[in-house]
Amino acid sequence: MKFKILTLFPEIFPGPLSYSISGKAIKRKLFKIETINIRDFSKTKSKTVDDKPFGGGAGMIIKPDVLQDSLEFAKENSFKKKKLIFLTPSGKRLNSKLIHEFIKHEELVIICGRYEGIDNRFIEFNKIEEISVGDYVLSGGEIAAIILIDACVRLIPEVLGNRNSLNSESFCNDLLEYPQYTKPREWNGLEVPDVLLKGNHKEISKWRLKKSIIKTKNMRPDLYEDYVKKNKEGK
Ligand code: SAM
Repeated sequence: MKFKILTLFPEIFPGPLSYSISGKAIKRKLFKIETINIRDFSKTKSKTVDDKPFGGGAGMIIKPDVLQDSLEFAKENSFKKKKLIFLTPSGKRLNSKLIHEFIKHEELVIICGRYEGIDNRFIEFNKIEEISVGDYVLSGGEIAAIILIDACVRLIPEVLGNRNSLNSESFCNDLLEYPQYTKPREWNGLEVPDVLLKGNHKEISKWRLKKSIIKTKNMRPDLYEDYVKKNKEGK
């Protein structure tokens, strides 16, 4: 899988993606990151990429012609099965289902905004999907891109040492993960639940499912509702 990132700050990448699981996956060429500097496509001597918003208001807007030229460049030597994504707080909120959809593509072209954002005609003209990483405003799309890429990469076959861990992770089957424990058995007066120490795998699974359901109900009533709809045990 390939990620092409249109950004004004290419030096941010790969950043945290070069560590741990994703870092090993880059080294093993299980995915690739290519950055395209939007500023390289400015037509002015001073390399300007933005201008004041029509209608007034604070901040600056990245110009559509500069963005279009950088996108045309990104499309050269591109995979057929690609998806264009603009990261914006006003987009559809990112979730596990969307990530599973995104990894079906050979290539994601990710556009990172800065300042007050980008000219909306660029989004309309190219039919770009708008994605938000949460209900808060970041200074730029780069950190959001790292979140999106990291979440995609761990679903690529061979990236995780043990793919079984994907089956019990949070958001699998609309549930959050059950609480986890390791050594020591007693810590600061707190004991590891007895059921986890007895080796009865059927009982452990039952306990974990129960804990997952309780946690989801408390933390994410929206997910719990979906779970109840789909599973009788959730009632
Ligand atoms: N004026 C914009 C608004 O109110 O929606 C916010 C612009 S923000 C300061 C600059 C850039 O950061 C955005 O264009 C976007 O690319 C990125 N960004 C900020 N928050 C984000 C979020 N929650 N999800 C994805 N991208 C975000």
